Amino acid sequence: MSDHLFPALARPDDRAALRFGDHSLTYPQLASVAGRVAGELAGARRVAVLATSTMETCVAVVGALLAGVAVVPINSKSGERELAHIVGDSSPELVLAAPGVELPDALAAPRRIDVDVTPGPADPTALPPEPPASTPALIVYTSGTTGPPKGVVLPRGAIAANLDALAHAWEWTEDDVLAHALPLFHVHGLILGVLGPLRRGGAVRHLGRFSSAAMAAELAGPATMMFGVPTMYHRLAADAEADAGIAEAVGRARLLVSGSAALPAVDHERIARATGQRVLERYGMTETLMIASVRAWADRRPGTVGQPVDGVEVRLVDEAGNTIEGGDDETVGEIVVRGPNLFLEYLNRPDATSAALRDGWFHTGDVATRSEDGYLRIVGRRATDLIKSGGFKIGAGEIENALLEHPGVAEVAVTGEPDPDLGERIVAWVVPADGTPPAAEELADHVSRLLTPHKRPRVVRFLDALPRNDMGKVLKRSLGG
Ligand code: ATP
Ligand code: MG
Repeated sequence: MSDHLFPALARPDDRAALRFGDHSLTYPQLASVAGRVAGELAGARRVAVLATSTMETCVAVVGALLAGVAVVPINSKSGERELAHIVGDSSPELVLAAPGVELPDALAAPRRIDVDVTPGPADPTALPPEPPASTPALIVYTSGTTGPPKGVVLPRGAIAANLDALAHAWEWTEDDVLAHALPLFHVHGLILGVLGPLRRGGAVRHLGRFSSAAMAAELAGPATMMFGVPTMYHRLAADAEADAGIAEAVGRARLLVSGSAALPAVDHERIARATGQRVLERYGMTETLMIASVRAWADRRPGTVGQPVDGVEVRLVDEAGNTIEGGDDETVGEIVVRGPNLFLEYLNRPDATSAALRDGWFHTGDVATRSEDGYLRIVGRRATDLIKSGGFKIGAGEIENALLEHPGVAEVAVTGEPDPDLGERIVAWVVPADGTPPAAEELADHVSRLLTPHKRPRVVRFLDALPRNDMGKVLKRSLGG
């Protein structure tokens, strides 16, 4: 692979690069419009991009990366307080936005540049020299699932190394066309979903919003791959079961990839039955990019995220920090990671950085088990998903998966709550399926029958919907978890 982040931008042929609705750009056109943006950023150090799901966002990010300027992608739908936090923390000198889009108040101070995505006469493009690998490329704020979002400074080299490792794991080539429906301000949608295909020289077709029908139409036509979050696969499972056309179209995809949160094993199996496709799961986080993935050619075991990707070292450690051998698919340890994929630091948070990055190893806060052949099974976050009850350490995910097998359960989240006898008691928050909600006792019995009695929920609470963030992740904090 070339040293440049986007070698395909120098190719003269008219291959498709990006498509949003009716608007598409070929590689030479993208090189011309992004080159124009880069020209306007000379001398800047850090810019914000109002990351709406538009062509302008992609052109702004690629332009800034060509100029060697660090980009802060901003979720325009964040609340005022969160936006003020992100803008104040990252202090961008400029803000890039699509023309006509109103800027939130928090972005009033930096100078605005409207991104023009109309291709000019494509100048023969010479790519600017690639800055050193340690140059900050993106400052991505974490999802804020466990606390206020932190600015993660990602160097160019980590992005290149991780995208190349994924290309190997997923047999991802320039012939792949990605159907994309994720937002563009997190790693999943922006780095994997846009920069990934552009680094390969392949194409991205963005749907704007996810719907199973629109996704199926892409997969029946030009698209070969889908990247999605579990909430999308949950809907796709139901819609593929109800509609043979959707099932058939999804069945034609080369690869369906899920990440950002755990894909329930039930949804994995439902999609497999309806479409013949086994969704491939990968695991990562903003700070580390992708850590592990099932390989395209390997066994896809529901509930596992596969082995570490090329170049990434993973250890499981106990609470004292000692390495656990694992390999029994049972012993739980925290995932710590080392490799070329790591972030540089949390912006303006030296204490948080040194707490998480110790001797070159990043402590993820996620806990997992490992099989004999190195497949990781994510138990969840150490802080919210590992329940210490009656002397046992119990993973919330296993109980959630068991409850999802009950026909009366549509969605579920399991948390621990302080308990005078047990230390913590298991609480199941259940969104019932249509019809008469099952009795709490019946659900608890179902879990004791499938798992073991000490994994039985002590409390079952019914809700209309689970609190989720924009990536569909359950906010256990707001459940008191
Ligand atoms: P914050 O750090 O602000 O609390 P966050 O951790 O949700 O938010 P991200 O960096 O976007 O922000 O998400 C990374 C986390 O998502 C991982 O630490 C892990 O807990 C979870 N995750 C990602 N992929 C998977 C997966 N395949 N299975 C289970 N969990 C996953
Ligand atoms: Mg996190």
